[in-house]
Amino acid sequence: AKEEGKGRYAVYDKSMHKAFNERMNIEKHLRSAMKNNEFELHYQPQVDIRTGLISGFEALIRWNSPVLGFVSPLDFIKVAEDSRLIIYIGEWVLREACRFTKDVHDRVGIPYKISVNISVIQMLQDDFIDVVLNTLQETGLQPECLELEITESIFMESFESMVTKLEYLKSCGILIALDDFGTGYSSLSYLQQLPISTLKIDKAFIDSLSDSTYSQSFVQIIVQLGHKMGLEVVAEGIEEEAQLAFLKDSGCDKVQGYLISRPVPGRGVGKLLEVERYF
Ligand code: C2E
Ligand code: CA
Ligand code: CA
Ligand code: CA
Repeated sequence: AKEEGKGRYAVYDKSMHKAFNERMNIEKHLRSAMKNNEFELHYQPQVDIRTGLISGFEALIRWNSPVLGFVSPLDFIKVAEDSRLIIYIGEWVLREACRFTKDVHDRVGIPYKISVNISVIQMLQDDFIDVVLNTLQETGLQPECLELEITESIFMESFESMVTKLEYLKSCGILIALDDFGTGYSSLSYLQQLPISTLKIDKAFIDSLSDSTYSQSFVQIIVQLGHKMGLEVVAEGIEEEAQLAFLKDSGCDKVQGYLISRPVPGRGVGKLLEVERYF
């Protein structure tokens, strides 16, 4: 039995070792990815559930490494955070997303919104507010068209200072969305203290709508609560017509998901905008 225990420990150790090596490998190549132009943004439309019109896009980073191939953000964002490379990557994402959106505005004449994912590491930087405001100034994008997507993990850090930063950005006209809502440490009592404009219901609740009455109730209650608090409610990860119908009935404001479109590269956005109405 002792031997068996030892063996198991060895296996466990090896798999940990492998995971560690993978992370090291990702970090190594991540360091040169920036200057080698290996990142690209894809854009996924958000559609107004009442009108069927695109209201904006979420920018999602893509990394095509010549060595590792396509690496999912789920596999490298954490590494980028731990190595703090996310500070530079995040600044690039913000600038590129704002630049692209301003360009769309100039070409199409409609002020589409752009939602950009922000890591807690970025927000902890002393110059975070300056970075955001400078980016808007440099690109010429109106603050009302920029939405920062944050997760509840941000408030685990230093609640007071995070709220202060977000309040300032909000006072400048920038929108704040609480992403992955329902999966974190949400306490409804602190929700009202947050200077947010949008709640994004996590995909997990949308996935289970068809077989979980809990998810159905959760979605309905969150939409009502959000509206009472003056927030817009967005549902992400919509893949089926039945989910769309339920969200429409629930009074949800916007939807985002493969049912409408997968995230597309910038050059594919024009085609999405040609569609008159999505439903
Ligand atoms: P997220 O912010 O929750 O983004 C939504 C994810 O769900 C995206 O995955 C998107 O492609 C995917 N998705 C959208 N609709 C559907 C659908 O109908 N079905 C399914 N199965 N998936 C759908 P992606 O692009 O792989 O990004 C994963 C996560 O990586 C994001 O989750 C976000 O947390 C992070 N991430 C992506 N881009 C950035 C970025 O520029 N900065 C930071 N800090 N994080 C990012
Ligand atoms: Ca997001
Ligand atoms: Ca999300
Ligand atoms: Ca998510």
